[in-house]
Amino acid sequence: MVRHTELSENHNFRGGPKRYRKRGPVQWEGFKMVKFGLQFKATLENVTNVRPVGEDFRWFLKLKCGNCGEIPEKWQYVTLVESVPLKGGRGSASMVQKCKLCARENSIDILGDTITPYNAEDSENYKTMVQFECRGLEPIDFQPQAGFAAQGAESGTQFPEINLQEKDWTDYDEKVSESVGIYEVTHQFIKC
Ligand SMILES: [Zn+2]
Repeated sequence: MVRHTELSENHNFRGGPKRYRKRGPVQWEGFKMVKFGLQFKATLENVTNVRPVGEDFRWFLKLKCGNCGEIPEKWQYVTLVESVPLKGGRGSASMVQKCKLCARENSIDILGDTITPYNAEDSENYKTMVQFECRGLEPIDFQPQAGFAAQGAESGTQFPEINLQEKDWTDYDEKVSESVGIYEVTHQFIKC
């Protein structure tokens, strides 16, 4: 009996009695929950408050299976509108998917409260725009598309429909007779 306890604590003894599996860091079906921050970076010209609009905003991502390393070729998107229950009453996620290679069920959830606008003072610096809570997978690439909005830095003029797929966007603010733009859009992921 004593020997079993030592095994489970010292060696993360997976095959041990059920009650010993509950020890250690928070886990779900054997893999951890990890938060990743999507950091946005761009050069802003006369605009601020660059943000994704609405719960149906599509975050286009490439996701890597943490178990086998598989990365599906196509872009996948998650939105705040979609919510799938997790097994075992562990809440919900924006997307649950089975890896095509190893068949493990992974999930990703958008943490809506973490969505933060990118402002004039953030220009040319990385800033976390959103966090994703992931189980068993890792976001490795992001493709901004339609659905962004911004406003004139001084004028407050609204620019409600911005598409960043080309990594550059430009317009004209008639209120103050100035050109406006979002240039050289790039990103990185960090572990939170
Ligand atoms: Zn896999």
